[in-house]
Amino acid sequence: MKLNYAKDLIDFIDKSPSQFHAVYESEKELIENGFIKLNKAEKWKLEKGGKYFITNNSSSFIAFEIGSGDITQEGFRIIGSHTDSPTFKVKPNPEIDVEGSYIKLNTEMYGGAIASSWFDRELSIAGRVSIKSDDPLKPIEKLVNVDKDLLIIPNLCIHMNREVNDGYSFNNQKDMLPLLSTINEQLEKDNLLVKIIAEELDLKFDEILDFEVYIYNRKKGSLVGLNQEFISIGKLDNLGMVHASIKAICESGDSVATKVIVANDNEEVGSMTKQGANSPMLKNLLERIIIAMDLDREDFHRTLSNSFIISADMAHALHPNYSDKHDPSNRPIVNKGPIIKIAAKQSYVSDAMTIGAFKSICNEAGVPYQTFVNRSDMRGGSTIGPITTQQVDIPSLDVGNPVLGMHSCRELAGVDDHYYMIKVFKKFFDYK
Ligand SMILES: [Zn+2]
Repeated sequence: MKLNYAKDLIDFIDKSPSQFHAVYESEKELIENGFIKLNKAEKWKLEKGGKYFITNNSSSFIAFEIGSGDITQEGFRIIGSHTDSPTFKVKPNPEIDVEGSYIKLNTEMYGGAIASSWFDRELSIAGRVSIKSDDPLKPIEKLVNVDKDLLIIPNLCIHMNREVNDGYSFNNQKDMLPLLSTINEQLEKDNLLVKIIAEELDLKFDEILDFEVYIYNRKKGSLVGLNQEFISIGKLDNLGMVHASIKAICESGDSVATKVIVANDNEEVGSMTKQGANSPMLKNLLERIIIAMDLDREDFHRTLSNSFIISADMAHALHPNYSDKHDPSNRPIVNKGPIIKIAAKQSYVSDAMTIGAFKSICNEAGVPYQTFVNRSDMRGGSTIGPITTQQVDIPSLDVGNPVLGMHSCRELAGVDDHYYMIKVFKKFFDYK
């Protein structure tokens, strides 16, 4: 069972080279499990026991299953996560001619990527394009994944960069641009990337209006370690939690409460978009559920007062080479269970009450848990919990599975932890 979940996660991430692909894969899984896609422009009529979902910008989604109980009393049980991961975004007019000899691509960093992890790897591009249609305000959207080893960012040799092993500072405009091709007589280098995309999609070059594509690592995920106990793959932050929440909503039993999973985009760049956690996306959807069940706005607020959010985003495990970087008395380890994240400055929203609730669910599920706090002299990161709860007044805590090398293009997590987290999420959804 544990191994099946880990392999399924690897498969999900391998098929999700961009957040658009992650949402597409999620949609497929939800539909296979009886969820119905709702059109936001239509009037909804929702039924108890019904399973539904919406997508937003094709890069975020919310799925829900209406509980059998009185919704105002049983509330929403919500798990939040995010679909995006640090990478490099291809700029418009990206082709740069290097002395008539090479073509490289102009990119900018998306989120806080570990630059050094991207060198000397087989890379390609994936994302979406907009295509001409009859309605100028509604171009056709198509996902694109150039499914071959297309790009590489070669290191500079050590002979010309003697300080590379002494803490070199990478410049995103100079050091990080991927090489696409050498130039020869046959190469039509004008609009080269759009032509590559058009060919991939079987379109004419001038049908493509615009593109939104990101670099991704071509190497497939794998299990590593003496006992194959580690999962090695990119985007574990945070497709690990997206995957766990989908498994939980699909595999948990009937619930009196209404189960909700929300996967936002743009967490890695501050969440300030219509598809990000700092948007009315979740609040509006929850309100529409209430309205579509012939209840009123007061009922909506009554329902919120009986609701709970688990904000799930991967967390830092104790690093075997850098144990001094961690808090002296909270030392989470890979494969020792989900981590509860705590911060006095409230960069994580967990408090004694919500932590108590999560611990109780872990106990009921028979799953161990750990705690993470930053060293007091380190700033640390943040996540979607504090942002989501600025939008909806619902008790919440931040949790996540232990990971090493967060924001590397190859992260490392634990097989057991993924199984544990799915187990806890399922218990959260179906306890009576
Ligand atoms: Zn994250």
